[in-house]
Amino acid sequence: MSNCASYGGLLVILSGPSGVGKDTVLEKLKEKMPHMCLSVSMTTRQKRKEETDRKDYIFTDFMDFDEKIKQGYFLEYAKYGENYYGTPKTTIENWLNEGKIVFLKIEVQGAQIIRSGFAKTISIFLSTPTFAELITRLKARKSECDEDIARRIEIARSELKRANEYDYIVINDVVDRAADDICAIIRAEQLKYKSMQKYVNEVINNA
Ligand code: 5GP
Repeated sequence: MSNCASYGGLLVILSGPSGVGKDTVLEKLKEKMPHMCLSVSMTTRQKRKEETDRKDYIFTDFMDFDEKIKQGYFLEYAKYGENYYGTPKTTIENWLNEGKIVFLKIEVQGAQIIRSGFAKTISIFLSTPTFAELITRLKARKSECDEDIARRIEIARSELKRANEYDYIVINDVVDRAADDICAIIRAEQLKYKSMQKYVNEVINNA
């Protein structure tokens, strides 16, 4: 499948343990679905050297994050390890009002908040084919210290136990295939009768 047509707004949650390859899959997905929108989260985590402020994350400090919580700036936020991560509300709402397909790359607690607050969401859990492969990938990227890696492995264990809360599981074995799988999920969702009704009404009513 090379491309994905769009028929109206949809909020797509993409979760998966640290190291599973969410960014790589999303990059591939962007090639297949150029019209998709990806939320840029705010975080108190330190910027990695390969990351760009406001592109990968909006990096901030704990005081500012706390202030933003009080202002109701976030659609959802969660603590992951020692840091906070949150989805800015306004951008997402604007995109959805414009009928865009919006991806949130968030962890399991945030996913639960979004699911309970939005009627039209689909949630996808990305996994590696094996747990050993996840650990290999996490260590290979060399972006965290040993202590942080150990913490992320522990969080991964608890996140994997909650994979059953998701609508779909995609295995990131081959990146291109994982992106195709996500494209297929979205296409199927967009082609459901309730989404397509307004496009097909003319035909049905004049038959
Ligand atoms: P990382 O530090 O590896 O960039 O992200 C750690 C975890 O936080 C990942 O599972 C990532 O998907 C998640 N995350 C990133 N942004 C957000 C957000 O805005 N909200 C929530 N709940 N999780 C997020």
